[in-house]
Amino acid sequence: MSACPAYDCAVVGGGVMGCTTALWLARAGMRVVLLDRGSLCREASGVNAGTLTMQMTRAALIPYAMRGWELWRTTADWLGMDVGTRVLDGLSVAYTEAEVGMLEARASSRRAAGAPVELVDAARARDIEPGLGDGVRLAGFCPVDGFVVAYLTGRAYRGALLAAGATLQEGRAVTGIDPVDGGFALGTADGGRVEARRVVLAGGVWIQEMASWLGVRLPIQCLVNQLVVTERLPPVMRTILGVANGKLSLKQFDNGTVLVGGGWQGIGRGDPRDGGAEIVPENVIGNLQLAVHAVPRLRDARVLRVWLGYEAETADAMPVVGRLPGFDDAWVIGSVHSGYTSGPYIGRLLADAILERELERPLFDPGRLAGR
Ligand SMILES: Cc1cc2nc3c(=O)[nH]c(=O)nc-3n(C[C@H](O)[C@H](O)[C@H](O)COP(=O)(O)OP(=O)(O)OC[C@H]3O[C@@H](n4cnc5c(N)ncnc54)[C@H](O)[C@@H]3O)c2cc1C
Repeated sequence: MSACPAYDCAVVGGGVMGCTTALWLARAGMRVVLLDRGSLCREASGVNAGTLTMQMTRAALIPYAMRGWELWRTTADWLGMDVGTRVLDGLSVAYTEAEVGMLEARASSRRAAGAPVELVDAARARDIEPGLGDGVRLAGFCPVDGFVVAYLTGRAYRGALLAAGATLQEGRAVTGIDPVDGGFALGTADGGRVEARRVVLAGGVWIQEMASWLGVRLPIQCLVNQLVVTERLPPVMRTILGVANGKLSLKQFDNGTVLVGGGWQGIGRGDPRDGGAEIVPENVIGNLQLAVHAVPRLRDARVLRVWLGYEAETADAMPVVGRLPGFDDAWVIGSVHSGYTSGPYIGRLLADAILERELERPLFDPGRLAGR
């Protein structure tokens, strides 16, 4: 490698994790290149439901999600653009005895972790969400919920990254990484080569493949998630609404469309190696039946579009954020449950680690899962 590589850091993957990390490195004065084989935030970080949620976030990740929620609320200040964030009441409802048990356990663990979740009875739940149908036995209520318009994420980060002086290489797939004297040499699909002193692997479900380029085995599972959006409707609901068993999440955007998701995570069909994904009609129907049960005024709504996206998950359902085992200057970030909610915070934490700053909260050592 040349004595002085062109970049201090190469970030591979321009989802919310890679973009945030690259942004704070560039703002700290590093020469940063961000490579994505497509456009910024066009995989999970652009097609997700955009729900900012505490009730469905694992307790251990609540402090990270709370900080992420705050950052999404203030994107105009630190990202230079409003991404349509709305703060809404969140309700997670229980219809069965088993779901009541889940809600009780979840509310106390989330509260202990710092999220303001309280349990409310059916009458109070109906006050909070007048659109609710019958059968609710108990609900978890959290005023710290909301949503972001996810498809705006890439536009916002692109502007901020360019303003911070980062080099963006969109439409440029990385095909391999070699450790070389003084850093790393990245090979690209167009036959090019990019040299950097450090590298950050931020490839979402493709992290496993990226780690393998450096000889590290980092097992990542892929969940194929499904989302459904309706035509524009008059107001039918005012909260972020979910069912305690995780089978449903619902919200209505300002334009009247209702996004139905959450319900059938992991059982769409698809393979991230070839990028294919297939809708499973019975899952769409099941998801919609549950949505109509929760909010009966959805009964006559027509479905406009159904789509799928890939979400990464580790065997212990906790993130991988930190040094790639065996390397001082190779880092990895991803597999964060409710990763969109906490992405802007976790990406910033990783940037702080790379910049050797004191960390506000610990990272999630990839070494616990990795082999060679
Ligand atoms: C349908 C769906 C709904 C979801 N809903 C929510 C929600 O409501 N709330 C929430 O908090 N979380 C949600 N999530 C999870 C959240 O979207 C993810 O945790 C988060 O966006 C992951 O970000 P990432 O940057 O790690 O990965 P990604 O956004 O997938 O980014 C990885 C990037 O790497 C790039 N890449 C891959 N291979 C290469 C290569 N060889 N060379 C260069 N670039 C490469 C890809 O093009 C991609 O842009 C949802 C996920 C899905 C799929």
